[in-house]
Amino acid sequence: MNKVPQAVRPHIVILGRCNVGKSTLINALCEQSVALVSAQPGTTTDPVAKSMELLPYGPVVLVDTAGLDDDTPLGKERVKLSERALRKADLALLVVETHALHPLEQDILARLRKRRIHSLVVINCHGEPSGEAGEHSESHAIEVNALTGQGVRELRERIAAVLQSTYEELPLVRDLLTGKGPVVLVTPIDKAAPKGRLILPQVQVLRDILDGGGVAVVCRETELAAALSKLNSPPELVVTDSQVFPEVARLLPKDASLTSFSILMARNKGDLPALVQGAEAIAELRPLDRVLIVEGCTHHSQEDDIGRVKIPRLLEGRAGGELRFTWAKGPNFTADIHDYRLIVHCGACMLNRREMLARLEQAAQVGVPVVNYGVLLAHFSGILERSLAPVLPSLSDTVFPPAAITYNR
Ligand code: SF4
Repeated sequence: MNKVPQAVRPHIVILGRCNVGKSTLINALCEQSVALVSAQPGTTTDPVAKSMELLPYGPVVLVDTAGLDDDTPLGKERVKLSERALRKADLALLVVETHALHPLEQDILARLRKRRIHSLVVINCHGEPSGEAGEHSESHAIEVNALTGQGVRELRERIAAVLQSTYEELPLVRDLLTGKGPVVLVTPIDKAAPKGRLILPQVQVLRDILDGGGVAVVCRETELAAALSKLNSPPELVVTDSQVFPEVARLLPKDASLTSFSILMARNKGDLPALVQGAEAIAELRPLDRVLIVEGCTHHSQEDDIGRVKIPRLLEGRAGGELRFTWAKGPNFTADIHDYRLIVHCGACMLNRREMLARLEQAAQVGVPVVNYGVLLAHFSGILERSLAPVLPSLSDTVFPPAAITYNR
């Protein structure tokens, strides 16, 4: 069960002041020693994320954070990391010691409400829970004794109930399919492909088709013509790796429905219309403009790497001269982004939707357009419109509520 990728698990972020028992609570919820517990304030430094099976709900990620009232110089840096962890939160547990909330705790609750993050107040009692938590004036609250485990089972049940009513797993592709024909997945196996396996977006799209009762055919671009010739009915949809988009488009009839793994991922994780709008900024790039290239995880660059080599080459060709690139990997997105002309983001398969939307929102607030790898490659191949056609009509329905991101620029 712990193999379920973190990006598709709801994230529960545990917050509170120093020494209110956050780490003890995460250990009690996990029934194992995940976080270091000490009476010394500031024991938790970087947020600690633990994938677990939280019954009766299922797979989740619990994130332990440093105390939000640590005002030492190092503590202030930790507070920033804790706030960054909140960007991923589908649910926040605010751990407090008493029924009367400290002003900082009231402020945290107000900020959670403003950011539309669901929250539960967890009163970590030192003794026997009083049973009065349900009357808590600030929010839904529950009493536990994290040290003895009293109330922890009830807390798990409350968490499960909140997630069941608020967390929605969005489909990647199955909502687009009617079963008219198979879905053909084109997955190049080149030097960049990991040994012995498919990459996460390919696996997730395949699984989503199977979950929807669909039929999938998987091949490399070199076998696509042969695969198509063996089908009894035309494919309902072809999904390809963005890097072989032009070859695949050439092999298909003009009216065949074609999109990419990146575009499906962008629809699922973020705000696809905002990313398409970001592609319009490519035409405005001029030599020496600054471009930020962001990858959601850390991985070794390959020869002719898409983010390091291919995309910079395409952008410089369009700008007509050298551009100034910066690369960021993993969580390093909170740096000063306002003086970039364009941000190019990867497919974000390792990020959850909340994190990706927070990144788009942050960029929109400073007026910097964002495009992702898939949209950018389709744009350069001249087939953006074609690759969006199968997915854009469904963007306006309620399954994918628009994130209402607008650019200030
Ligand atoms: S760089 Fe982005 S798209 Fe590639 S594996 Fe990492 S998170 Fe996924």
